[in-house]
Amino acid sequence: MNDCLFCKIIKKEIPSEIVFQDDSVTVFKDINPLAPVHLLIIPNKHIISVREVEPGDEEILGKLFSAARNTAEELGINDSGYRLIINNGPDANQEIFHLHMHFLGGDKMKHPMG
Ligand code: 5GP
Ligand code: ZN
Repeated sequence: MNDCLFCKIIKKEIPSEIVFQDDSVTVFKDINPLAPVHLLIIPNKHIISVREVEPGDEEILGKLFSAARNTAEELGINDSGYRLIINNGPDANQEIFHLHMHFLGGDKMKHPMG
């Protein structure tokens, strides 16, 4: 997927602050943080959104959660907590069409449902 911004971040073709990367997952700082900690956890595989998840993607999707757990552990915010968000499609205002999990933490947040 040549013109995908996040694929370019994975391949380090454009700069970003990557905090973790392995063969399956990349974790990097959101360019426009909405919380003291705002990371994006993405599969290295180009998956557009949850709708495009295929049989066989279960392992890589599980690794997104493992990366979230490890990140919380490393940042020392397991007890204070954090929020994981995946925006899908227009009603959720998905802007980047490479599946990504927002990792938000570091401060008390309002309830997302009001
Ligand atoms: P979405 O609205 O699709 O769920 O979230 C996309 C996120 O990507 C936004 O929070 C936005 O700030 C972030 N973002 C957009 N462009 C870039 C970029 O070039 N670098 C980084 N690090 N984050 C980006
Ligand atoms: Zn992509």
